[in-house]
Amino acid sequence: MKRTIDILKNSDKMKKAFAFIHSDDENTLAQTLELVKIPAFSNCEKKRSEHFRALMENEGYEVITDEVDNVYTIIRGSGCGPTVYITAHLDTVFPMDTPLIERREGEKIFVPGISDDTRCLAEILSVMRAIKAAELTPVGDIIIGANVGEEGLGNLRGVRNFFRNNADKVDGFITVDGAGTGICIGAVGSLRYKVTFSGPGGHSNGAFGLVNPIHAMGRAIAYISEMRAPQEPRTTFCVGVVEGGTSVNSIAGSCSMLMDIRSVSQEELLKLDAKFKECVQKAVKDENDRWEEERNSPFAHFDTSARIEVTIEEIGNRPAGMQTENDDIVRIVKEAYEAVGVTIPYMGAASTDANIPISLGIPAVAVSGGGKSGNAHNVEEWFDPTDAYLGVQRILLTLFSMVGLSGVSEALLPVRGK
Ligand SMILES: [Zn+2]
Repeated sequence: MKRTIDILKNSDKMKKAFAFIHSDDENTLAQTLELVKIPAFSNCEKKRSEHFRALMENEGYEVITDEVDNVYTIIRGSGCGPTVYITAHLDTVFPMDTPLIERREGEKIFVPGISDDTRCLAEILSVMRAIKAAELTPVGDIIIGANVGEEGLGNLRGVRNFFRNNADKVDGFITVDGAGTGICIGAVGSLRYKVTFSGPGGHSNGAFGLVNPIHAMGRAIAYISEMRAPQEPRTTFCVGVVEGGTSVNSIAGSCSMLMDIRSVSQEELLKLDAKFKECVQKAVKDENDRWEEERNSPFAHFDTSARIEVTIEEIGNRPAGMQTENDDIVRIVKEAYEAVGVTIPYMGAASTDANIPISLGIPAVAVSGGGKSGNAHNVEEWFDPTDAYLGVQRILLTLFSMVGLSGVSEALLPVRGK
């Protein structure tokens, strides 16, 4: 594997591509700044998607826009290699009215969304230009572009849609996300819910004895907070938001809470999910039972048939999964990074677009783009473009290590099922 990557890296074609990427550095930064000014909150990416499509077309590529506004092109290989889908996400965590004003401090450029993930979108374009400039023909096919819906409310809808239609056509997946040199080989899965407790509501004094949705939710939270989750594989839970009630002297008609459960193990995720649902049902039952005596009292001045009702609405579902350092795709990334003198500082698990392919058993990694960044998901997000072209070179080498370079090196990523 190391030998093949060395041959690839030292080939005239790859050297030409590397030199091109270096010379393209200014252009890549200019495109980063052009794209970042187009607001693209999750589920509102259309404008940025259309603009990205136009930029791809400017480079001479034929572009497909799918039904959810993912955009990509297919670069056909010389044959018989794996198909790798490489992408970066169009959406950001910033609502559409967030001011996207550029500010510079030394080398740092501040704009919300600049590093996560706008810079990586521009790097994808630089990779596409390098492929043309150095006339690189892959052995396997490359599907390259940009996708929607990675961040919170997007619920991975872009990549989810892509794999719903193309899972059997893809042998490997790379998402370029954020800056730095760590790689992500595992998928932290999550299940998210809005839980709503309701009852008729009434006067705190006059209707005393009536079931109380807020009390039921309090019970549920108390039970949830006593749940136990394994540290390995890491599994976590949190009630993040509670809402409800109208006044201090009213039994509320309804209240709700938002629940987040995460794990790198799909099995543990589902186990904890079942426990959480038990806690909610137990809380409802206990709250309904609690007022039995008051309901049977001759002094009951309220609707004695009323009981707490609960709805558990799923608002997020990201599948989990883990790969190991021995998996081909992980070894290829590691060797390709080492070939350009980068030692990967960690191989962790996170919640990224790679969750979907990993959960489907399709080899996938999330790698970072070039440069440095900070304050991700914060309006003070910044990007430092110093030597950022090195990241683009790393991505190109990783990609062609996987798919092979026609006439130069074989594909290292196996075709699935072979
Ligand atoms: Zn991201």
